[in-house]
Amino acid sequence: MATANAASPPPGSSAESTSEITSEITESTVAIIGAGFAGICMAIKLLEAGIRDFVILEAGDGVGGVWRDNTYPGCACDVPSHLYSFSFERSADWSRKYGPQPEILDYVERCADTYGLRPFLRFGTLVTESRYDERSARWTLRSADGRAWRARFVVAGVGSLRVPAIPTIDGAERFVGPAFHSSRWEHDVDLRGKRVAVIGTGASAIQFVPKIAGEVERLYLFQRTAPWIMPKPDRPFGAAERALFRRVPGLEWLYRKLIYWSKEGPAVGFIRYPAILRFVERVAKKHIRSAIDDPELRAKVTPTFAMGCKRILISNDYYPALARDNVEVVTEGVAELRERSIVTADGCERPIDAVIYGTGFALRDFLAPMDIVGRDGRELSEEWRDGADAYLGTAVNGFPNFFMLTGPNTGLGHSSMIFMIEAHVHYVLGCIRHVLERDLDSIEVLPEAVRAYNERIQEKMAKTVWTTGCRSWYLDENGKNFTLWPSFTWAFWLQTRRMKRRDFSFA
Ligand code: NAP
Repeated sequence: MATANAASPPPGSSAESTSEITSEITESTVAIIGAGFAGICMAIKLLEAGIRDFVILEAGDGVGGVWRDNTYPGCACDVPSHLYSFSFERSADWSRKYGPQPEILDYVERCADTYGLRPFLRFGTLVTESRYDERSARWTLRSADGRAWRARFVVAGVGSLRVPAIPTIDGAERFVGPAFHSSRWEHDVDLRGKRVAVIGTGASAIQFVPKIAGEVERLYLFQRTAPWIMPKPDRPFGAAERALFRRVPGLEWLYRKLIYWSKEGPAVGFIRYPAILRFVERVAKKHIRSAIDDPELRAKVTPTFAMGCKRILISNDYYPALARDNVEVVTEGVAELRERSIVTADGCERPIDAVIYGTGFALRDFLAPMDIVGRDGRELSEEWRDGADAYLGTAVNGFPNFFMLTGPNTGLGHSSMIFMIEAHVHYVLGCIRHVLERDLDSIEVLPEAVRAYNERIQEKMAKTVWTTGCRSWYLDENGKNFTLWPSFTWAFWLQTRRMKRRDFSFA
């Protein structure tokens, strides 16, 4: 996995590139990288464990991670908010079932305030290198603007959907109009009355396309693969309902549990019996028929791969948006951009004023632009050259006292990542406490434990719907799924309850 390339800093980053250390090195017990849900959760749990000696290094200018970066119109979570929130900081006040991005960002900000995390946050800190020194058993972290930190433990909570993937299109540099990625939405660009090309039809595009379709003059939607889209069972919560959640003891908790198990049941179709999902395909096809009359358009948007192989999307307004007169779904591949137009592989040229890339994220670069150098000068990018793997998605042999949150094979296609984050944080905290309480120097996962663990993961993976033949960002170029957890989320929870001492070496 490439970890050292020129990925652009996130919005709000004030980092500039230089490797000189320009200030005194600050020492701490733990350095958390990233202030998204994962980093914030780690910090809260460190404080609760009485470990106050840590910093949170964050490249951007605020907390929230993807929920700070993604501000495109219609951005919302496709997991119900009562579940997509911390179990220890539940809210009765979600305005609707699927919380919109501003509300989720507000929630993370509130967590940072409630738990007193502000003094620990260092914004504008793009970490470019973490290097381990075996003699002192310390990591040195450097930021792009020349500052440095030393820490006993590094916890990387940088997330994987962070580095925009923008396709290389011939002539893109000649295009004179605005062109931006969905996660870097340019709100000062007025799309009203414009001819807009949207490339991509993934989870992000299906949210913003309906929001802009009504205001642009013409929208060309370049679709490479039609996604499976189910109706979104969304609705606002009325004041009375919210009051009930607040006042009736256990009601909100019970609702959260119901959502959890309603997501966990269907996981059987993803991880073991993909044939079950064929029945669900019928519902999705009916969803298309109910919104689109034109048989040609229906055919275009009907997926041709097994449901679940790529993320199943949910929307009620996407298909109606595609049925609008000013929207055209283009299935010819994009061949070229010219000064004021876009040309498809069949030579057809469409005049446009703006391009929006809804083309997802570069996962191979998910720790970029950070170089992680462990024991004996081992580089994580080299270790992962043939594919990323880790023990429980968190520890890598050769990298003592280094942990990732939501690392390889811990992503989900069916439930809340916050659940996974909490399980991960519990586990990592257990490892850190083990070292601190016994006055040890370091903890390092054994290579045979990593190997055996990942063999089991890939064995399970072979039975999942994600290996039924579609191309997706879940897979690397060798077809190996290095992103998703191939089991129930409670199984991950169980495995992260307690560190297995025999899988680690200690110094
Ligand atoms: P995505 O799901 O990876 O979708 C990218 C889209 O761009 C796909 O339709 C892809 O087509 C297309 N594409 C990529 N490269 C292309 C190229 N060179 N030419 C033409 N089309 C191209 O990205 P995303 O929509 O940003 O979502 C990424 C992930 O973010 C999601 O899977 C989800 O995990 C998360 N997300 C979550 C939510 C939420 O509600 N929780 C909302 C948004 C995003 P192919 O399918 O053919 O590759």
